[in-house]
Amino acid sequence: MSGFEGSYLGANDKISPRAIMECKICWTPYDPAEGDDTRQVLPGTPFIALPDDWSCPNCDAPKEQFLVSEDPGSDAMQQAAWLAARTEALVTDFTEVWHAKMRDVPIVNKLLHVQAVGFDLYQGRPLGVLLSPWFMNLILLPAEGEDWSDLQPGAKEYITFASGQYEFIHNKRDMTGGYKACSLFSPMNDFRSQAQAVEVARAVLVALFQEEHRAETDRSAEIRAAREAELEAVTEAEAEEDAEAALIIEAPTRRQVLTAGLSGEQG
Ligand code: FE
Repeated sequence: MSGFEGSYLGANDKISPRAIMECKICWTPYDPAEGDDTRQVLPGTPFIALPDDWSCPNCDAPKEQFLVSEDPGSDAMQQAAWLAARTEALVTDFTEVWHAKMRDVPIVNKLLHVQAVGFDLYQGRPLGVLLSPWFMNLILLPAEGEDWSDLQPGAKEYITFASGQYEFIHNKRDMTGGYKACSLFSPMNDFRSQAQAVEVARAVLVALFQEEHRAETDRSAEIRAAREAELEAVTEAEAEEDAEAALIIEAPTRRQVLTAGLSGEQG
């Protein structure tokens, strides 16, 4: 090994666009806020965006031999990478369930696949919607370093968001670990496409944080009740119409989720 251990060695995924770097040979800094006059690099150019043949303006050491002086963006980057890894593990886990157990179960909607929608940190914990061919759930994962391995599967917990209270069920899986799930839709037979399911998932996440939708009742139960009412209406309509018309089933739309599902009509 040379004396260059600790150099970034081209590992662009390890440094943020805000990273201030310095030459390991002569300690000349590269600050993205200043750019590099000698090589006509404009201020605002991140170190990772410098051309591959860029070298130290003072001693001509190659770009790979620079090291991180300070990186104010790296915490946010590491957090984003951690969130992405947790979300990916969730998708991998439930995709395996799909292939191993669910694929041939009659209630599944084969137009859909497992997808994580809108996952972001909420009070430090990953929160988003997981949709699959057989369910759409709000999912809450533990914060970094938080241990949910002792959650009792099946235990209920009410969690409050700006729009009100939601019933979450505790659960755990080998890959995902402990998690909390709030059932939004199951089964998923009324959805006509993945894109439509994703749109509804995004609408749910928006409505979740809207205070004007607040109600004191369990909101997930309201969503289900609204959906059941819709399904009943569809079933009645089907009974009156011919078999061809019965194929045209109104799937949940963004508007229905917002107005019927989460608008707090009872409040
Ligand atoms: Fe240098």
